[in-house]
Amino acid sequence: MTTFYDNRRPYDNYDSTTKEWDAIFIGGGASGRFGSSYFRAMGGNQLTIEADNHLGGKCCKNACVLHHYLYEIAVELDKARIWDKKEYWPKFPRKNGKVEILPVLRDYIIGREYVFDFMFHQSKEQLKLQFLLNQRASVLDAHTVTVPGKGEFKTKNIIVAAGAGPSVPPVPGTDLKGVYTYADFLELDYEPKDVVVVGASKSGLPWACFFNAVGCNTTVVEMLPALSQFPIDDDVREYTLRMMKLRGLPVLDETRLVSINGSGSVKSVTVKGKDGVEKMIKADLVYLGTGCTPRSDIVTPIGVKTGPKKEIIVDRHMATNIPGVYASGDITGGVMEMWKARQGGMMAAKNILGSPAEFETELFADTLHTFYETTWVGMTEKEAREKVGQVFVVRMPIQGYKNWLPLPLCEGAMQYAHQWPDLSGFQKIIYDAKTRKFLGAQHVGYGGKDSFQYLLYLLKKGATIDEIANLTELFINPTHFIQLSRLRSGMKNLVDLG
Ligand SMILES: Cc1cc2nc3c(=O)[nH]c(=O)nc-3n(C[C@H](O)[C@H](O)[C@H](O)COP(=O)(O)OP(=O)(O)OC[C@H]3O[C@@H](n4cnc5c(N)ncnc54)[C@H](O)[C@@H]3O)c2cc1C
Repeated sequence: MTTFYDNRRPYDNYDSTTKEWDAIFIGGGASGRFGSSYFRAMGGNQLTIEADNHLGGKCCKNACVLHHYLYEIAVELDKARIWDKKEYWPKFPRKNGKVEILPVLRDYIIGREYVFDFMFHQSKEQLKLQFLLNQRASVLDAHTVTVPGKGEFKTKNIIVAAGAGPSVPPVPGTDLKGVYTYADFLELDYEPKDVVVVGASKSGLPWACFFNAVGCNTTVVEMLPALSQFPIDDDVREYTLRMMKLRGLPVLDETRLVSINGSGSVKSVTVKGKDGVEKMIKADLVYLGTGCTPRSDIVTPIGVKTGPKKEIIVDRHMATNIPGVYASGDITGGVMEMWKARQGGMMAAKNILGSPAEFETELFADTLHTFYETTWVGMTEKEAREKVGQVFVVRMPIQGYKNWLPLPLCEGAMQYAHQWPDLSGFQKIIYDAKTRKFLGAQHVGYGGKDSFQYLLYLLKKGATIDEIANLTELFINPTHFIQLSRLRSGMKNLVDLG
């Protein structure tokens, strides 16, 4: 494979005669790289400084991409396990009762180099970014950045895009061998058997389902009522949890991690349940899906204001309280997602280069991966009933129908729909019954996630059921929302369907 640079060493790709930069981006992750690209495209002179050996940040290193990689394997193994030796399905590939994890991780690490290389090539050759790799930046003041061995870089503006690292709960035993977060999971060097995943979260559940699917005895521990942190209805929550339970993956909710136990390496965890009783769970691996903490320490010494979770406080223009210092991405806290990191970098670039823009982050679509994608946008049915009053809902499966209903029916669920219809998913779309406006949607299944990006747009535009029914579906489409809406949109007074 071609490598454009030796990623074990510091790498320079910048004009060292530059006296002053228009902007220095600290961090070349999603936010820094997209912000830099937009800045450059607008004609600004930028420099991006990245402490790690590649551009793209944690997403392609060990976060989003790894999460989707493990999710996909979990879904494939889940199907192989369900169809074990039936029809053309082969015998489920078990070794000592378990699929090996280490080869899967090794392949990820090898394949990741293609992504790193591509990002490097695109950034250097096509986007014409100037950057330093494998070099850590410090901020001296609002207009001076230093790098060891390179001295000072002068700049009109700084965009702090240094991201966030894994949060580790303050309990005894987190330093034992066998305790992992997403950041060091790829260093796994043994085959675990008994796994405890802490956090029924977006970063915990894909790992839990993966461990379960490979055959580890897996338990999820969550301090809140399960999935209550997500704005989904109870029926969607229950379906998502039931599908995990059916696969033998228990979620112990309202349960706190008290300690991780062992000497040298993990042997068990102690948890305290909702009844206040402590119990021990055997474990040779503990995976912490307990969120991320912003790396704001880099600018607090120059007086940049932070909030209670160490997040940098920015206004809608991505500006901090210090003139000339902006921040974007995970370091600004709140929802930590790629859209926010990338768009935030772009917004900072626009505002610095005199094209004022306000970043609105309140309304967005989101997904949780288990053995399915659970995706949502807008109001839940419960919220809509409280706020709007008269709502109209299309829901599948149909309530009160005695047989199993094979919807959603689409790629990824075709075989479930015909053999185990209950496993094919769950969906609902919510309208204001009076104004006929689209209010929200939720979906559990496969392949529906993409449409939620555009459903969000329709929601922001105030689309009605009549407009949605007039869209042209590409059948068979995973969410079925267009045709299901069409079944009722001829009615003057909408009546629930489902
Ligand atoms: C397990 C997991 C799964 C996820 N899955 C998804 C998903 O499926 N979809 C989604 O939208 N989001 C997902 N996210 C969130 C997403 O990864 C982040 O929102 C996004 O990567 C944030 O980008 P960023 O640029 O703000 O930060 P980062 O990606 O953290 O990049 C910051 C960069 O700054 C560098 N840096 C730090 N300090 C310095 C310094 N002093 N000098 C120079 N460089 C420095 C770091 O090395 C790093 O490369 C996931 C997160 C996790 C943890």
